[in-house]
Amino acid sequence: MDNNLVLILKAANFAADKHRGQLRKEAESTAYINHPLQVARILAEDGGVSDPEIIAAALLHDTIEDTATTESELAAHFGVRVASMVAEVTDDKSITDKAQRKQMQLVNAPHKSPGAALVKLADKTSNVRDVGDRPAVGWSEERRLNYLDWAKQVVDALPVSNHPLKDAFEASLARSLALVKK
Ligand code: ZN
Repeated sequence: MDNNLVLILKAANFAADKHRGQLRKEAESTAYINHPLQVARILAEDGGVSDPEIIAAALLHDTIEDTATTESELAAHFGVRVASMVAEVTDDKSITDKAQRKQMQLVNAPHKSPGAALVKLADKTSNVRDVGDRPAVGWSEERRLNYLDWAKQVVDALPVSNHPLKDAFEASLARSLALVKK
């Protein structure tokens, strides 16, 4: 038994179960789990990340924020490090004002642990690609451009430099900007 592989598949299975019934906001309404799967794939494929706990955290990254999952539940299943990486990339839902919550992402970005920073960077790369290729229904050009601008600010604030993921983000951002503006 390959424990690393088991950890990753367990995380994918757990996240799919937690996100069951949730759909993405794009026109095709695909299953939500495709987003965490894409984030994990970006880490491995574009970022060359092979740490199985970071890949597992990517698969689980929206479970606390968007499903009934707690950090201690994740710690029991996947260990403290995976759970804390997920907690680090979770927005504080006690802040009800959306603009303020977005502002907090910027404020908190520089203090992320190395693993959480990579998950955040891959998450933003995934979202930026989607804003170009498959935007949420009803998003105006202005809203899409605002999102791209904000994502760039968050990524620039993360403690990640000289990493292939950063190049992947920049390339995805340039491509999506071109797609949105045309
Ligand atoms: Zn996400």
